[in-house]
Amino acid sequence: MPRTRPHNLYAAQWTPNGQSLGTLDLTEPANQLFGANVFTISEQRERLPKETYKRLKKTLERGEALDVRLADAVARAMKDWALENGATHFTHWFQPLTGSTAEKHDSFYAPTGDGRAIAEFSGKELVQGEPDASSFPTGGIRATFEARGYTAWDPTSPAFILENPNGAVLCIPTAFASWTGEALDSKIPLLRSMDALSKSAVRALRLFGDERSQRVFTTVGPEQEYFLIDEQYYYDRPDLVNTGRTLLGAKPPKGHELDDHYFGSIPERILAYMLEVEQELAKLGVPVKTRHNEVAPNQYEIAPIFENSNVGSDHQQLSMQVMQSVARRYGLVCLLHEKPFAGVNGSGKHNNWSMGTDKGHNLLEPGDTPHDNVQFLFFCSAVIQAVNKHQGLLRASVASAGQDHRLGANEAPPAIISIFLGAELLKVFEAIEKGETGASAPGSLLGLGTPVLPPLPMHGGDRNRTSPFAFTGNKFEFRALGSSQSLALPNTVLNTIVAEAIDDLSNKLEAALKRSKAATVEKALPKILQKSFADNKRIIFEGDNYDEKWHAEAEKRGLLNLRTTPEALPLLLEKQTVDVFGKYAVLSKRELESRFEVMGEQYATKLNIEAETLADMARTMVLPAALRQLALADSAQVSTVASEVRETTNDLVDAIQELERVNSPQAHEPHEGDVLAHASYMRDSVQPAMAAVRDAADRLERMVADDLWPLPRYSEMLFIK
Ligand code: ADP
Ligand code: MG
Repeated sequence: MPRTRPHNLYAAQWTPNGQSLGTLDLTEPANQLFGANVFTISEQRERLPKETYKRLKKTLERGEALDVRLADAVARAMKDWALENGATHFTHWFQPLTGSTAEKHDSFYAPTGDGRAIAEFSGKELVQGEPDASSFPTGGIRATFEARGYTAWDPTSPAFILENPNGAVLCIPTAFASWTGEALDSKIPLLRSMDALSKSAVRALRLFGDERSQRVFTTVGPEQEYFLIDEQYYYDRPDLVNTGRTLLGAKPPKGHELDDHYFGSIPERILAYMLEVEQELAKLGVPVKTRHNEVAPNQYEIAPIFENSNVGSDHQQLSMQVMQSVARRYGLVCLLHEKPFAGVNGSGKHNNWSMGTDKGHNLLEPGDTPHDNVQFLFFCSAVIQAVNKHQGLLRASVASAGQDHRLGANEAPPAIISIFLGAELLKVFEAIEKGETGASAPGSLLGLGTPVLPPLPMHGGDRNRTSPFAFTGNKFEFRALGSSQSLALPNTVLNTIVAEAIDDLSNKLEAALKRSKAATVEKALPKILQKSFADNKRIIFEGDNYDEKWHAEAEKRGLLNLRTTPEALPLLLEKQTVDVFGKYAVLSKRELESRFEVMGEQYATKLNIEAETLADMARTMVLPAALRQLALADSAQVSTVASEVRETTNDLVDAIQELERVNSPQAHEPHEGDVLAHASYMRDSVQPAMAAVRDAADRLERMVADDLWPLPRYSEMLFIK
């Protein structure tokens, strides 16, 4: 009879978190939670004097600074709203270069001197904060003697209230800069890049005769993958607690081979969790739409409806926070690491990206008329051109220690950036390339003179799951982001490089229109797009991106294959990167260098923590278990078993000693002060030493008596729900 495993039984128990949750029909008017904790536009309109509201709107539309009186009025309304909703404190909520969010809470209450206290919140406090921010990484931008930074309100992302069982906090989305004006966060560059793209896109739209659109917004809709495991197992594993991933663990007999998890019915406890996450996010105004099981056991996905890049990126940070905190209410832990379990599918984030006008027109939506389609092909060409030119930079924008286990390992997507267009759109571009573009055949599609082409739009059907950058009907999907990553940097990169490509194509189009009076956009554009496609088509790949043959083919095409973070990071400082970010005033050279420094340092630090955790676990958990097993085998006088265990135990000890040696302070010393050298050292020396420890430990896991093994196994963590 099988032994009862009390801890597994216990892990499988759960209770719903309260009765009122999980049953609300959110479409009922009485249950309208959406935005309940957000200082929305309509809330502002209701609470601000008419004149003040109008002035605020105008100031925002023009992107001007707020004057003090206006700020005071907004602050007063915001404070009243927050107090009515239970908030006692406020915080400037910002995004330092660590990739997470930061907050420092201040109370609204001020003593009046006569023993009472009143609530205060001035415009000055709303608009600007001064956190003592000397401990945030700045990549050398800020010396400690000028350690102050300041936070500035971002009025384009709505303030919200974060609830806690014992209180609530008003969170004011803010930017974070140094006193010298350099961006110390990821929001400022993102906002700058949105401006840059808007200018370039509006200029291009004028060439197409659009006089109405004043602004173009980039949009983002992220699909977020994550794991949920019972918190019992989590706390039994120092590696999960310290690093977010398992540093050892033998492969379970059952993985996702049966494909029984993907899109399968959602387990009850998980669904209860999801419902509560969705309600919490709804209150915060995050438009969550989709949920389903993912490929790996205990892996799931959540996706919101798209929003403008700034708000979408803020909401994504909030989503990750809420997903993690709600999990605890169900005795679960939400793992956002890119590769929590070796040999099991990792977690990524798909960044759906597009551009839309303030009049509501999606520029990557193929239209119904030839004119619309020419415009669509123009913007589409710009994306192809940008991604081809800056493929390395895009790859660098998603580089991290966690990502090295996905990109460049045998997992989707590969480290080689390529674009999937889909058969129909590709056919159109190939026709353009062949010059089948005479406006001769009236009524033919796009004026391309090829009536054989299928009509646009090209929705649905045509999918390539393996492509890192795929056209999916009316947007591009950048699939190489890591699950724990902020959206800000990759979108900053995308916006900026596409702005550059749009300007390049606009320059050519303008020149052509100037050359000849008779020229029209429809006549001039095909030649320009023909050349652009011919120059950039090496980035197009429609096949299986996992296939080894593609790696050889990509190399022939001259595409970059930057498998690891230390290989990718230098692309942040390449000349063409510095040029494009400088030209559009998105990131100065110094700001780029600071990101390079911080990302490199984080990589090395994370690997160092992993190495120390692993060495410690191997010595104090695995090795004692192995020795007990050895004693058992010896005392039973079964020499074949004893020698097997002895040999593997010796391997383990050798490997631990080697790991401790390569990860000792003395071994790190020569690389101090050189971020890239240090990161490369971690990759080349420390990581292989970790792999050797893991190899021996995983072999021991298969030999040691089950009741002596000190760690939860993959088969428990991944399958007990
Ligand atoms: P899929 O076929 O990939 O499931 P969906 O239309 O369901 O496509 O969208 C997937 C994701 O793409 C969602 O997060 C959605 O918000 C996002 N998305 C849709 N349209 C856009 C757009 N114009 N810009 C950015 N993201 C978008
Ligand atoms: Mg998708």
